[in-house]
Parts: sequence; structure tokens; C-alpha cells
Amino acid sequence: MTIRLRGHHLLCLLGFRGMGYSDDFCANMLIIYEKLRTEPDTEIEIIEGPDDICQAYPPDKPGHCEGTVYELDEKILRQLGLAPGGKGSWRSICDRVASRVAPTDVALLCTTCPWERYGVCREGVGLIAAGKPLPKVSAGGKS
Ligand code: SF4
Repeated sequence: MTIRLRGHHLLCLLGFRGMGYSDDFCANMLIIYEKLRTEPDTEIEIIEGPDDICQAYPPDKPGHCEGTVYELDEKILRQLGLAPGGKGSWRSICDRVASRVAPTDVALLCTTCPWERYGVCREGVGLIAAGKPLPKVSAGGKS
């Protein structure tokens, strides 16, 4: 099984603690997060534009996938030394995060993201950088 992810979602997943745009969005994100947490050899294909996380974005909410989101993808992929079309295990992506991203970089990279202020993404990057596991997340939040 290959999971298709756009650039910025490589970091968003590290900070997923159950929050999201809707129940369906969170349920889908939880499946992906737990799959990667428990099976880090799962293959990731990096794509440009809407991915396996975006597919559960609530259709009744205003779309937010315009220029700044693509710029965010580019910035994060550049920092990781990756590009659309690339493939590799989730473990190899976490290794790149550990060696190329500091927790404080999240605030600099993700200036347009409303979730940044919660601090969960910088915490997730910090766990990876310290070689610690991401927490188990269950429906409704961290367990
Ligand atoms: S701050 Fe926003 S864009 Fe950046 S990793 Fe977190 S959720 Fe993703």
C-alpha cells in the first residue's frame, strides 16, 4: 500500500493529535497517522496538490487549497530535500525530518497555517528529532 502525501502534510502528520476540520477528516487522518506510526516502512509517494488526506476535506467548507498551500508544500519539501514524484518509506521521511528540521522551524515554515499556534507540530518534530516515538492517537485525541 502506498500513501500519497503532499509536502506540508509530511509535517502535519507529526502533529496530528485528533484535531481537524470535521469528524470524517479526523477519522481519515487518524487511519493514516496510525498506519504510519505502527508500520513506518509503509511507502509514501510525494505528490503535488490534493492527496490522501485532502480527499476527506469536508465538501461543505470553503476550500483553502490555493496558492499559499502550494507555497507551503514547496517550502517544506525544499527543507526536506524532497520533490513531488519521490517515493520512500515513512521511516526515511522521519529520518530526514530529524536531520533537517528543528522544532522552531515550524513557526517559520508554517506562517499561514491556523493550526501552528497549538504547538503540536513543533512538538511532533521535536519527538522525531529526539528519536522518540509519536504518541498513539485515538478518535477524539491523544490517548
Ligand atoms: S503548522 Fe499547519 S501546515 Fe505546519 S505542520 Fe502544523 S498543521 Fe501542518
